[in-house]
Amino acid sequence: MNENSDYIINDSWILANRGRKNPVDWRKPYAWQVEKERTATGEIVDTATIFLTNLECPYHCLMCDLWKNTTDVPVPAGAIPAQIEWALKQLPSAKQLKLYNSGSFFDEGSIPEEDYQKIASL
Ligand code: SF4
Repeated sequence: MNENSDYIINDSWILANRGRKNPVDWRKPYAWQVEKERTATGEIVDTATIFLTNLECPYHCLMCDLWKNTTDVPVPAGAIPAQIEWALKQLPSAKQLKLYNSGSFFDEGSIPEEDYQKIASL
């Protein structure tokens, strides 16, 4: 909220004023990379990041741009483990792995609980 009553920033305003989403394919992550990053112990190691293609986060935070590469509907069960498996085949080896999900990993609308075990095993 702000003090100008003619100008209220809410979900509707954000959705109406942002651009279009990029076309995405829920069978593949929309990006993947390996970079040097610091670990919790201070060591610098190769770190893989997989940017998963998934349902848009419901919060619509004003500063967030993750919505640009999201779907409008949930991806099917098994899609996220399949994306991770696919990306791991493309990436060089790395010491640690980060998963970007464009929202909460624990939102069941985003990642079905039945996929947790397969994701953890990967
Ligand atoms: S992903 Fe995080 S920052 Fe982006 S809209 Fe959702 S809660 Fe906000």
